[in-house]
Amino acid sequence: ANPGNPTGTYVSVSEIRRLQAGLPKHVVLVLDAGFIIVAAHIFGIGGIEVVSSNANVVMTRTFSKAYGLEALRVGWMYAPAEI
Ligand SMILES: *Cc1c(COP(=O)(O)O)cnc(C)c1O
Repeated sequence: ANPGNPTGTYVSVSEIRRLQAGLPKHVVLVLDAGFIIVAAHIFGIGGIEVVSSNANVVMTRTFSKAYGLEALRVGWMYAPAEI
């Protein structure tokens, strides 16, 4: 989870790239950006370019926070088309 909720931790894009580079190609790295809405103005959408440039990285988002749809449990995922 990046940013971590409720810890408030944040992993930099370079650290995400290092993690991805160390994974076997058959392992999918899921970047949970559900809480990014509170930090996007500071960090941007950190890691989205790692999704774009790798076949085994996805990013999940949620409509729960900023859109007040937590009761619906609706989200979306940015991922390579194959996934
Ligand atoms: C709120 C939150 C979620 C939950 O998303 P839902 O769509 O409500 O299930 C997931 N990950 C993080 C980091 C969150 O802050």
